[in-house]
Amino acid sequence: MVASEVRALFAVASRPEIVSLAGGMPNVGALPLDDIGEIVQRVVADQGTVALQYGSAQGDPVLREHICEVMRLEGIEADSDDVMVTVGSQQALDLVTRVFINPGDVVLAEAPTYVTAINTFAAFQADIRHVAIDEDGVIPEALEEALANLAAAGRRAKFFYTVPNFHNPAGVTLSAERRQRVLEVCQRYGLLVLEDNPYGLLRYEGEPLRALRADAPDNVIYLGSFSKTLSPGFRIGWALAPPAVRDKLVLAAESAMLSHSTFNQMVVRQYLASHPWREQIKDFNEMYRERRDSMLSSLESLMPAGCSWTVPQGGFFVWVTLPEGLDAKAMLPRAVTERVAYVPGTGFYATDEGHRCMRLSFCYPTSDQIREGVRRLVSAIENEIAL
Ligand code: PMP
Repeated sequence: MVASEVRALFAVASRPEIVSLAGGMPNVGALPLDDIGEIVQRVVADQGTVALQYGSAQGDPVLREHICEVMRLEGIEADSDDVMVTVGSQQALDLVTRVFINPGDVVLAEAPTYVTAINTFAAFQADIRHVAIDEDGVIPEALEEALANLAAAGRRAKFFYTVPNFHNPAGVTLSAERRQRVLEVCQRYGLLVLEDNPYGLLRYEGEPLRALRADAPDNVIYLGSFSKTLSPGFRIGWALAPPAVRDKLVLAAESAMLSHSTFNQMVVRQYLASHPWREQIKDFNEMYRERRDSMLSSLESLMPAGCSWTVPQGGFFVWVTLPEGLDAKAMLPRAVTERVAYVPGTGFYATDEGHRCMRLSFCYPTSDQIREGVRRLVSAIENEIAL
């Protein structure tokens, strides 16, 4: 196990003079904090003896019903028995890896992919093989080629890990047409899909797309989270899995932590039952849309020739590619001197790739800070080109 580059950056990026386009922290300051305070009080007053007691490793049944209601927004019809609550979707990633991976087993993952997923797979000594993506998400032909190559070598992958909506770090979304092709390829090879979807409801334009899980309930383990649509502080996510897999995940969770925080689950359950949470997500989306637009218009007007970037329809991230010959990781200390931080692309690969790339996030800084951050970044890039 090694510390992620994102973690190492936090100390630098949180210095007050720095505009951080690095972290992916949601703007929880926009939440109705008074209302949440009242919910917390009500949970203690009305259900304190339950909320302060041990619970189960599968999670609160009423919360799991609400989770099914949330997933219905992306076309998923699920039985709450097949849902398990997890400590953020991160715990679900850990449990799925724990259950499926022996040292040396192959995991397929997009290139680039979510840094902490790489670290989790690596902690269990998985052999991570990347599959190329473009602006429409993973390329089905590349996935098929990877599977055919493995089969030719007498090997199989245990699962394909994908972030289909507003990808972290690439910002791209898997198109509707490709979703069907990806499922078709995976079904043909008997490959399980691990669909990680913490950002799906944070859409700023375009129509919602059906989750992969909606069309292939037996082949997909779906991971969701309240970290971005409510708050990461509750640490509540979930996994929806075929029953045989769910049973193993619950056993693994029991040995990892015995039971969830009953208290946190009851607060989130009460929030979902009594608060207009769909309206809250709309408010978040308006705020994040404005920030995304500030970032994209600043990039458009300021970035030097030879730079390119993705245009996300939702989520938190833009993926920038620098001109040939530049190295985003080597440049970072000089960007910090310009008082701006980002995450270098190399952290998002299990292989030695991504040197020309960086992830910029627009979720936490205000629009003014984003514009200033991009100005500073552009100055750092121009200095780099002049070197
Ligand atoms: N998956 C992806 C793609 C993420 O971006 C994140 C959060 N950065 C997570 C999983 C984990 O989120 P959480 O554990 O807070 O649900």
